[in-house]
Amino acid sequence: MAYVISDECISCGACASECPVSAISEGDGKYVIDAATCIDCGNCSNVCPVGAPQAE
Ligand code: SF4
Ligand code: SF4
Repeated sequence: MAYVISDECISCGACASECPVSAISEGDGKYVIDAATCIDCGNCSNVCPVGAPQAE
């Protein structure tokens, strides 16, 4: 299980600094989560202004 960032992402960067395991990085047109590193804490979803990170 991991969170996945949808195409709604506006690349604001707010989520990356809130991830306790540094699983989030800037990708091509949106931020991306490394599924192997994500521990499903939900911080990214809580801080995102557009609700882009969703539990898969
Ligand atoms: Fe990082 Fe938590 Fe979001 Fe996973 S759910 S990417 S561990 S902030
Ligand atoms: Fe994208 Fe939301 Fe993260 Fe901002 S907080 S970079 S909009 S996923």
